[in-house]
Amino acid sequence: MRIALYDDGRLGLVRDGLVHDVSAALAVLPVSAQPWLATRGDPLIANLDVLKPAIMAALPDATSKPVAEARFLSPVQHPSKIIGVPVNYHEHVVEAEGDVATFSDRFRGSIEQQGFFLKAVSALVGPGEGITLRWPERRNDHEMELGVVIGRTASNVGVDEALSLIAGYAIALDMVVRGPEDRSLRKSGDSYAVLGPWLVTADEVADPQALDFFLEVNGEPRQQSNTGRMIMSIAEQIAYASRFYRLYPGDIIMTGTCEGVGPVRPGDTITCGIAGIAEMSVAIHPAYAAAREVQ
Ligand code: MN
Repeated sequence: MRIALYDDGRLGLVRDGLVHDVSAALAVLPVSAQPWLATRGDPLIANLDVLKPAIMAALPDATSKPVAEARFLSPVQHPSKIIGVPVNYHEHVVEAEGDVATFSDRFRGSIEQQGFFLKAVSALVGPGEGITLRWPERRNDHEMELGVVIGRTASNVGVDEALSLIAGYAIALDMVVRGPEDRSLRKSGDSYAVLGPWLVTADEVADPQALDFFLEVNGEPRQQSNTGRMIMSIAEQIAYASRFYRLYPGDIIMTGTCEGVGPVRPGDTITCGIAGIAEMSVAIHPAYAAAREVQ
């Protein structure tokens, strides 16, 4: 099942090049009188088991439109955290260690030596919203990654059971400003975490460690690899993360990028895809206006 949020927040089922408006299915979601006491995590992902049959029930009466005409939002809106995995493809490690001026020599060593990092939840957008560079005068890079969305609440899980916790997969762009500051700052600007265009439920992905993926900027090939080339597997990532914090439905793991990361500038268009998941285009918006804002 390919589940999307699009346009003004419609719930969509993507099938045969069309997005079907199955928002009527949302009626099955539990309503809490005290939402501030609700379980942590994303309410859609947490209720996928009841939502899936409701989506199928809503499908016959659903209106639809071509995928190309929809503005896709992130299929997860309220993760409790966005987990980043650094240096998870050997060739990317080589390119980073070979260009200390760009990638900084602050972060060295294996994943276990560096640990994971977190991106601010407020950085999350869908491909239809695009990316606005917060610091356009500095080098801003794309990092093309497989996005893993956790489906259950779990802590201290083993590698052997880890994949069973996954709700689904999406394309993830781990956008970053290069420089010496902590990753959590440089990777957390508004729109620096792109997820989309939809969630492909885990049952549709036979082997998440065998997916070809690519990224182009303005049609120029930049990144191309396969998730089989990860250093730390997805199952190992989930087990490792769950030793440090409880995982909640909707938590996103950006599973690391391959070689070929490079800069984007205002006006560019990123096109990227993962075999069996989706392809999507993301605009780098023309300019960021650093206007004071208080609401
Ligand atoms: Mn990354």
